[in-house]
Amino acid sequence: MSRVYNWQLGREMEYPHEEAHPRWQFAFVFNINRCIGCQTCTMACKSTWTFSQGQEHMWWNNVETKPYGGYPHHWDMKILRLLEDANPGNQVWNVEPAVDAPAPVHGRFDGQTIFEAKHPLLDAPQSRVLGYLPTDEEWQAPNIYEDTGTGPAWQPGEYGKTASLPEHSVWFFYLQRICNHCTYPGCLAACPRNAIYKRPEDGVVLIDQKRCRGYRKCVEACPYKKSMYRPTTRVSEKCIACYPRLEGRDQEITPDGQPTETRCMSACVGKIRLQGLVEIGDDGAWVENRSNPLYYLIREAKVALPLYPQFGTEPNGYYIPPRWVPRRYLEQMFGPGVEEAIERYAAPDRELLAVLQLFRATRPIIFRYEIQEGEKVGEREVTLPSGNTTTQEIFNDTVIGYDRTGNEVVRTTVEEPTFERPRQHLNSI
Ligand code: SF4
Ligand code: SF4
Repeated sequence: MSRVYNWQLGREMEYPHEEAHPRWQFAFVFNINRCIGCQTCTMACKSTWTFSQGQEHMWWNNVETKPYGGYPHHWDMKILRLLEDANPGNQVWNVEPAVDAPAPVHGRFDGQTIFEAKHPLLDAPQSRVLGYLPTDEEWQAPNIYEDTGTGPAWQPGEYGKTASLPEHSVWFFYLQRICNHCTYPGCLAACPRNAIYKRPEDGVVLIDQKRCRGYRKCVEACPYKKSMYRPTTRVSEKCIACYPRLEGRDQEITPDGQPTETRCMSACVGKIRLQGLVEIGDDGAWVENRSNPLYYLIREAKVALPLYPQFGTEPNGYYIPPRWVPRRYLEQMFGPGVEEAIERYAAPDRELLAVLQLFRATRPIIFRYEIQEGEKVGEREVTLPSGNTTTQEIFNDTVIGYDRTGNEVVRTTVEEPTFERPRQHLNSI
């Protein structure tokens, strides 16, 4: 085991390989508040990559309804249970500033990750990572419990009172999931064939189909269960982050060869997704660059948080938490930054409001944004989740996104532009 630094945990941790980092890292932000659960992303991925024999149960992108839904069934509850059993009562975050530099971004995780925890039943030398293999039945019914809420039994006369902020007492939300192309992948750590690798140019995690022997150690070790076994070829497969598009090789989309968003991102109807590449320094840390929209949302505004950071893989998928969901549930899922993220999102400042317009606004990956100030168009009183009130001023700013070479690829305003149809086209489509 090596010692590696995991910024999401605010500390070093054990990992089976030496620390190594790509030059750029594939990353994304999903805004849960906006998702309508339409599954367009799911079908865009399915119809591109997993429509063949032996892939019937494979959904590299899935959208599940929390708290009960999950693909495979109960994946998160099962790994959380294993971790808790291995380290009872100690899977906790410490939000006091850590003494060892660098300072944690959200808090320091004092529990054990999947690389550190040992389970009595999984103590065989070949098990480097705490995990489990889902049953065939658990891979079936990928959207089980769709739209199923939770909360206290409904009482006559209570109708409508269960849905008031800051927390609804009856609630559910959609959780959009793809492979997180983790910085410290569990799948890669567990593979006895060294068939899994992380690309130096973009941090995408791939399975070498020729080296894989189908031992399914990656399926067992991925805490997010995003590595999947294909019985017809007897090897494992996973999300490839649509790497031909990242490389700008999808000629129909970007004839000029610029990096492009993946299929699931491009298809998103709810405009909840923003995908990009963040630059990684020689020391493995994110290079400070607040004009990169992902860097801004995750490291500056801190409105987007990693999914189950306590697993320890440093996932590169981030989520703006849903405003209406009980905080204890969200804190288990996204760590200690939840309250601060929702407070910020509830009344976004001028810059945040502008950057939020970039979600699903264009296909080329946005490497840099700029804001041109516009006139003030309104203001409103907002009661924040903390109970404090604030006046949010709204400006019709223009946000401009640029691709890798500095070409403008999107320009949009905070206020949605309206167009009046000319008289002669009133009845035409
Ligand atoms: S989400 Fe799972 S499959 Fe994807 S890189 Fe992380 S550990 Fe590997
Ligand atoms: S396409 Fe977008 S809005 Fe629809 S389910 Fe997927 S993430 Fe949600």
